[in-house]
Amino acid sequence: MVIPSSWKHLWDASVPGKVKVHVWKVCASILPTAGQLRERRVLVGEGCPFCNREEETISHISRECSFVRDVVGLAPDLGSVFGLPPCSLLEWLALCYTIVSPSSFSLLMMLLWGVWKERNQHLWYGQFRSAHQVYFQVVTLFHSFKAARIPENVKLGRQVKPWCPPSAGWLKTNIDGAFDMTTRSGGLGVVIRDSNGTVVAGACGTCTDVASPVVVEALACRLACKVVVDNDLGPVMFKTDCLQVVQAICAEGEDTSVFGRIIDDISSLLSSLAGSFFSHVYRESNKLAHKVAKYALLSSAQVSWSGHVPPGLDGLFSTLCTR
Ligand SMILES: [Zn+2]
Repeated sequence: MVIPSSWKHLWDASVPGKVKVHVWKVCASILPTAGQLRERRVLVGEGCPFCNREEETISHISRECSFVRDVVGLAPDLGSVFGLPPCSLLEWLALCYTIVSPSSFSLLMMLLWGVWKERNQHLWYGQFRSAHQVYFQVVTLFHSFKAARIPENVKLGRQVKPWCPPSAGWLKTNIDGAFDMTTRSGGLGVVIRDSNGTVVAGACGTCTDVASPVVVEALACRLACKVVVDNDLGPVMFKTDCLQVVQAICAEGEDTSVFGRIIDDISSLLSSLAGSFFSHVYRESNKLAHKVAKYALLSSAQVSWSGHVPPGLDGLFSTLCTR
């Protein structure tokens, strides 16, 4: 069998950081077991707290003890890991990685950590639990850890980036549109923040008789440019989650699309804003502008401001200022 030489499979496992650190300590032979402590002349009892038969070494508590075998053996796919040829713990885990699925390997790491945690509970608090109890507690933790990670990494298929402030001297303008298909109307949201994340200006507005959501997005972008020009702000990075509008603004030549006239207006306003530019941003870092657009759609509010946030809108900003 070929043993992977790197420790990558340990650090890449889908488990909490504390579990990785525990397994790393196991492999690096630095777990403070009774055997290790005695080597450092710390006075401790000799035996394994689980089986009372063997000396508590790292290898015993992680692989040989009947208790760890009982706990790990409860996992449907991990029964084979104790049938591997004798080798170091690092080699053993590398071999385990080659014979079980990545998810089962992650569970194995969790269970080794769970047994060690149980060993400490036993030594410090006299807690005694069965292999079943330890196994099911660890499996519950494992599933809740995996569930918490799904929306971020798996569902979206990319890394989620929260809103971040612009560099010093820049302003970031987040823009969004909200479209109501039944009334064919839209809400426009614009939020302008500085490098401290402070809202320095913004706008909300409405539009009627619009054909599609992308027109609302384009109108929101034009409103954003107007607010920046009217208040002599800049340089500004304009951020919208509508890729189609960004592509239309950046494209050369006349835009003949359904929102071409709006794009022409934006281009003309942009030409007076030296250094400012448009770029695309994902929705999760455009939440505040989305809230403002929704608010505009529902309340029909039309207001543009710089400085103090007008009453009615201030509640939105106090709760969501960093997104
Ligand atoms: Zn034991």
